[in-house]
Amino acid sequence: MTTKWVYDFGGGASDGDASMKNLLGGKGANLAEMARLGLPVPPGFTITTEVCTVFYDLRKKYPAGLDAQVEAALAMLETKTGKTFGDTNNPLLVSVRSGSRASMPGMMDTVLNLGLNDETAEGLAVLSGDRRFAYDSYRRFIQMYSSVVLDVPDDVFEHILDDYKESNDLRFDTELGAESWREVIEQYKKAIDKRRGRPFPQEPKDQLWGAIGAVFSSWMNDRAATYRRLNDIPQSWGTAVNVQAMVFGNMGESSATGVAFTRDPGTGEKRFYGEYLLNAQGEDVVAGSRTPAPISRARQAELKSDDTSLEEAMPAIYKELTEVAERLETHYRDMQDIEFTVEQGVLYMLQTRSGKRTAQAALKLAVEMCREGLISREEAILRLDPAQLDQLLHPAISEDAVRDIFVKGLPASPGAAVGQIVFDSAEAVLLAQAGKAVILVRMETSPEDINGMHAAKAIVTARGGMTSHAAVVARGMGRPCVCGAGALQIDSERGVVRVGSRTLRRGDVITVDGAKGQVLVGAVKMVEPMMTGEFGELMTWADGVRRLRVRANAETPLDAATARRFGADGIGLCRTEHMFFDAARIPVVREMILADSEKGRRRALDKLAPMQRSDFTEIFRIMAGLPVTIRLLDPPLHEFLPHTAADIAEVARQSGVAIELLAARARELHESNPMLGHRGCRLGITYPEIYEMQARAVFEAALDVARETGKAPVVEVMIPLVATRRELQLMRERVVAMAERVFQERKAQIDYLVGAMIELPRAALRAGDIAEEADFFSFGTNDLTQTALGISRDDAARFLKVYEERAIYERDPFVTIDRIGVGELVRIGCARGLAVRPNLKLGVCGEHGGDPASIYFFEEVGLDYVSCSPYRVPVARLAAAHAVLKKAR
Ligand code: PEP
Ligand code: MG
Repeated sequence: MTTKWVYDFGGGASDGDASMKNLLGGKGANLAEMARLGLPVPPGFTITTEVCTVFYDLRKKYPAGLDAQVEAALAMLETKTGKTFGDTNNPLLVSVRSGSRASMPGMMDTVLNLGLNDETAEGLAVLSGDRRFAYDSYRRFIQMYSSVVLDVPDDVFEHILDDYKESNDLRFDTELGAESWREVIEQYKKAIDKRRGRPFPQEPKDQLWGAIGAVFSSWMNDRAATYRRLNDIPQSWGTAVNVQAMVFGNMGESSATGVAFTRDPGTGEKRFYGEYLLNAQGEDVVAGSRTPAPISRARQAELKSDDTSLEEAMPAIYKELTEVAERLETHYRDMQDIEFTVEQGVLYMLQTRSGKRTAQAALKLAVEMCREGLISREEAILRLDPAQLDQLLHPAISEDAVRDIFVKGLPASPGAAVGQIVFDSAEAVLLAQAGKAVILVRMETSPEDINGMHAAKAIVTARGGMTSHAAVVARGMGRPCVCGAGALQIDSERGVVRVGSRTLRRGDVITVDGAKGQVLVGAVKMVEPMMTGEFGELMTWADGVRRLRVRANAETPLDAATARRFGADGIGLCRTEHMFFDAARIPVVREMILADSEKGRRRALDKLAPMQRSDFTEIFRIMAGLPVTIRLLDPPLHEFLPHTAADIAEVARQSGVAIELLAARARELHESNPMLGHRGCRLGITYPEIYEMQARAVFEAALDVARETGKAPVVEVMIPLVATRRELQLMRERVVAMAERVFQERKAQIDYLVGAMIELPRAALRAGDIAEEADFFSFGTNDLTQTALGISRDDAARFLKVYEERAIYERDPFVTIDRIGVGELVRIGCARGLAVRPNLKLGVCGEHGGDPASIYFFEEVGLDYVSCSPYRVPVARLAAAHAVLKKAR
């Protein structure tokens, strides 16, 4: 059997249909489908995507049999249109367009008006009764064909046209009549002959094969390749080529062309929405050379436009178009983006596809279409992209805002904010108290900046990646943040920040777009987040479907409350060191770290204990009855070591220890590689009294809340940075002993679990041993990524961009889990842990817990829960539902 390479459509029948997107491309499949529905589609044929694949396999040669099939399709097209290719009296003209499986707008090439030559142009002139139109079409064709197929750049033609206008004293193209165009065409042809060494092809079939080859070749052009890479479209998909009878929207005042959406793509409202141009070709709308008019009377009134709407200019066509639009939407069960042309009072449909939409529109469309009975709940859930949800949860920059970009960095925490520049946290706090909106601009942030970060509307740093301190804390707080903006030169002493030759000063107003990673000059227009009833409704549907529980990473009462408001099922990571970031506590924490004896440490710990207990009490109250994972102290020490003489003096004042002694101790504690240094459970092993104080505070607080509310929290005590079973065993013994002590003292008890963070490769590999001592595992994929890849979390920004560009890592591995590397360690950890302890609870609390693509992976692996920053909880809830639904498909 010979392969079918070519599929006919139009004239009431089609070989293909909408289900054949892979073979016919989106455009071809939908044209076939529309023709099947009996809609007015100009007939044509589609050369399949398989031909594209063979074309490249055979080094740009076509498969055997293709030419015969194209010949047959062309003959069929002639019959359907009653026109003949190359016929002088009644010429068939076609468009040749690309069309891949996924829409790749504007990335590949198109040729219109193909079939015109010196003779058929004259035929078209007679047939249309408009010589100017015919010769204008011919010159457009020559120009487009030469640029796409013959590699003659556009400016060659532009120069000719400009010279012609100048020497004939003409200003606008519209002033050129048929004879003028003929003269211009002669010059065009000469220029092509000179450049190419052969004349412009006059034979329509030669033109056709030239255009087909050019469209297939454009699949590999740089633009298309980049677009594919950015949008995860495999090269192997290939493009189809659609050859379709031309219809002309520029055949006089009863002709028009336009695009429309079946509902408003900006808001999702149910109203027909679009633009059109009278007497124009589709390309004129796209090129923006003329401003299109609104399609409906209502929209025209809304815009206070002077233009005549299509509804008024062509009422019958408008009615027919709205009926077609409604049919298409019902048929495809989604909002459609359609292209149409009116040729001398007759409507033709040129394209339909699912329309791109804002997050707000996606939400409204999904919920309303489900209510209308057009789609099921499952489909409604799938219609909202979890990654888009961020846009709904934070204020965002208005789409029509003008952006004057000062610097670009990493989009570390979404949302947008306007404020004046400050370089110092203390100043940020003071100004915020005075009611000023401030933006904290720093080289990098450290725990001491916590108050400044909180006071600021947004944070910008020159250093640091997606999991740097600034990024993690900003996301946790829901502050927009741009990190790693390496071009920033900050001189906080002088109060200036430079990027190249541009300078901004303390107090200057900037806007931070955390979603795009941009810092903009001045105050830019914003739109507030939308938390309508539809949002709640869709999230409830998602909750009904998901299997993964979604917890939050939270350590302050505010974060915990936000997490509950966003529907968290508990807390999956309470970083206790973050509780020490408070300005009043840092000196006490420093006292503890700098103490050179157990006695000195215990003195500081006694001061910290009541604070810790009251922190836990508040959090347990907010999370009453839900699981709360408390991680014992884990900071890389440098985060807490004093940096300045003033810091040391403050500790000396509070602790009564001599300044010199403290300074010497600080030098002693300095580490060259703190991330791999004295942190995590290594602190608990060397100074067990720290973990004991924390465990006591946890159990006392839990008992208090249980007594007070009648609802005990489900306490999970977590030991960080475990590498060996013995480490966990020692720490577990301490925690259990402390629990027993507190229970005896209080004559009451609660259930609790003790578990390990799996965030070192060794821990994943030895998960079987570790599970002997663990009630649960929580994968700390931030450190696991850092240690498995050997890439420092804080220094990655400098080179990871290049790594992504060169496709070494497809995505930032600190944002989306490296499935086959770090992911493999997670799989191994789960399997080995479960083999020893089948009821082992499994979760993840690295930043990946809030990333949709990573959540699909965690569903696959079968974790029990993910934990992420509070503002990402809704994203994770929706992504967890998608994970289940996609797996089922
Ligand atoms: C991790 O390493 O993934 C984690 C959650 O811990 P932290 O980010 O606090 O090191
Ligand atoms: Mg960690």
